[in-house]
Amino acid sequence: MKSVRYYGPGKVSVEELPPPAIGDGELLVAMKACGICGTDVKTYVRGHPLISPGSVLGHEIAGVVMESRHPAFNSGDRVVVGPYAPCLACAMCRRGHFSLCENLFESSLEPGGFAELIRVPRRLIDQVVFKIADGLDFETASLTEPLACCIHGLDALDFQAGQSLLVIGDGPMGLLQAALGKALGASTVLLSGVTPNRLAFATRVADQVIDSSSQDLAAALKEALPAGPDKVLVSVGSVDLVQQAFALVGKGGAINIFAGMPRDASFPLSVSRVHYDEVSVVGTFGFGPPDFRQAIDLLASGTLPIAGFVTRKVGLDGVEAALQAAGRYEEIKVLAVVE
Ligand SMILES: [Zn+2]
Ligand SMILES: [Zn+2]
Repeated sequence: MKSVRYYGPGKVSVEELPPPAIGDGELLVAMKACGICGTDVKTYVRGHPLISPGSVLGHEIAGVVMESRHPAFNSGDRVVVGPYAPCLACAMCRRGHFSLCENLFESSLEPGGFAELIRVPRRLIDQVVFKIADGLDFETASLTEPLACCIHGLDALDFQAGQSLLVIGDGPMGLLQAALGKALGASTVLLSGVTPNRLAFATRVADQVIDSSSQDLAAALKEALPAGPDKVLVSVGSVDLVQQAFALVGKGGAINIFAGMPRDASFPLSVSRVHYDEVSVVGTFGFGPPDFRQAIDLLASGTLPIAGFVTRKVGLDGVEAALQAAGRYEEIKVLAVVE
């Protein structure tokens, strides 16, 4: 079977691998759509400490069950497949804090998403594999994982319908968050960014778009929301933007440091803002199984305004070129697909 193997920054190759063998309680899934994620792009461009040479990237998977040794699934089922699931036994899991499971990556997909066939272990099947509703295509279903991360991010902010939301960042995650905010009933969604093609899409999902390359974010925000936004997602890995978000959020509001940040970065925090204005700072990473379930249900409902979000589809042979294009911000969301 064809797979895209990663050997280090700037190095991937399309290779034939033997199809994975499945054991009791497992599934063999034929990949139909697998999103190219910011993490894949970063790994391709800069490398990743946890990803070893020979790995297969890709973790936003929708496909068809080819062989089932699990009672809940049959061959031919169309499924969405999550990349990890909590152990349910560690201290974090017992607290319900699934994304912090100490054994989160103990059970994983073989070999990874950018391959024609994937072995799915039982722990994942029991928690993060769901049948795709009739009428929902593989491409849209493959957005379940990134959407689950966005749902986890808004949950951590205790986002409620009727609140205003500022999304800082026009990458695929920022745009998905704006669409999610809309679908969940935000009073106003504002999005700031700097990339013309992405800001053009943003006008479909946000009430107001701020081009930070020519507009001052603080001034634009003061006009749109004089009291400041209730909730802010920082979806660009910039500590300056975190600091700005903290200064701009409204009283009683909260900001989520959603994007991955430079390891040793920090910012001076006004303790009086935290105390007198009751502003909070949270962060999220990944998703838990309940977020994943909510994400596939939301996609199936058709209420998320994401038409035009996927701007390019490539075969496995085109993954490397797509990783390069994504690194240049030329696209919004790119999917690897197998016909
Ligand atoms: Zn992802
Ligand atoms: Zn655990």
